[in-house]
Amino acid sequence: VKESGRSAYRFHRPRRDVDLLARMRLDHDMRQALTAGQFALRYQPQVSLGSGQVVGAEALIRWRDPLRGDIPPVQFIPVAEESGFIVAMGDWVLQRAVEQAAQWWRAGRRMPVAVNVSALQFQQARFVELVDQTLRAARLPAELLELELTESILLRDADEALRRLEQLAALGVGMSIDDFGTGYSSLAYLKRFPIQRLKIDRSFVRGLPDDGSDAGIVNAIVQMGSALNLNVIAEGVETEAQREFLRAAGCDEFQGYLFARPMDAAAFEERVWSEVAQ
Ligand code: C2E
Ligand code: CA
Ligand code: CA
Ligand code: CA
Repeated sequence: VKESGRSAYRFHRPRRDVDLLARMRLDHDMRQALTAGQFALRYQPQVSLGSGQVVGAEALIRWRDPLRGDIPPVQFIPVAEESGFIVAMGDWVLQRAVEQAAQWWRAGRRMPVAVNVSALQFQQARFVELVDQTLRAARLPAELLELELTESILLRDADEALRRLEQLAALGVGMSIDDFGTGYSSLAYLKRFPIQRLKIDRSFVRGLPDDGSDAGIVNAIVQMGSALNLNVIAEGVETEAQREFLRAAGCDEFQGYLFARPMDAAAFEERVWSEVAQ
């Protein structure tokens, strides 16, 4: 598919020594940033295409460095993945997101929160136990947590991944395949994995409704989702025309700047629950 060239570039980019130094420095600063409280989560609403209701929130990490300012995740997540720091960072994200969902739950607000999980985190032997303990500590019903996994995580060692997914499913947490369409899931695996949802990658939403291959891919994913009884959500929706295409295609939900950018918890509450805002 058309994205493969770009991701191959991302993983095999030749690196110069300055690059290496810059990445080491960034990694060092990141580790300090975690203890210094410079990380925060933003929440982006997930909206039903049928009812227009906000039915969930994706937690997205932010780093505000006092000297560098805001550093976007695309810059520091790959460095954290390479150094292994993503595991500690991911634990923090999981805990923070679960605490937030629990706080809403205690306030009578049922809002499932989706958390991005990286490969290294998912492969940790203690991952399932960590999820279980985190939910218990916060007293959050497991179905109010969703884990977003990528195709590459699931296909690396598919049998081991399947075992782990089944353990997570037994806890009752939701699971979705993120950036769907950019990797290559086989239909056989999709059928076996105990997941509930496919997230159509933004790269296929961008060209809607005019780009014929994007339109075809999106239609195919929606049909695949319906054949496999999976909920389908599209990310990166910026225009009315994109939203209308997705609604007509039979997609269930969308996420994107058209409705809202990722917001801090207070802004999210204001937007979603304040009586005046409707
Ligand atoms: P992703 O999981 O595909 O997340 C969606 C990204 O699209 C987010 O970027 C979000 O802010 C952005 N986005 C949402 N709506 C729109 C839109 O309408 N238009 C455009 N152009 N962009 C939109 P963000 O927050 O910069 O995150 C980038 C990536 O970094 C994420 O992609 C995810 O792979 C990773 N990431 C973010 N937070 C975490 C985290 O807590 N843990 C892990 N492991 N990865 C994370
Ligand atoms: Ca995601
Ligand atoms: Ca992703
Ligand atoms: Ca994406």
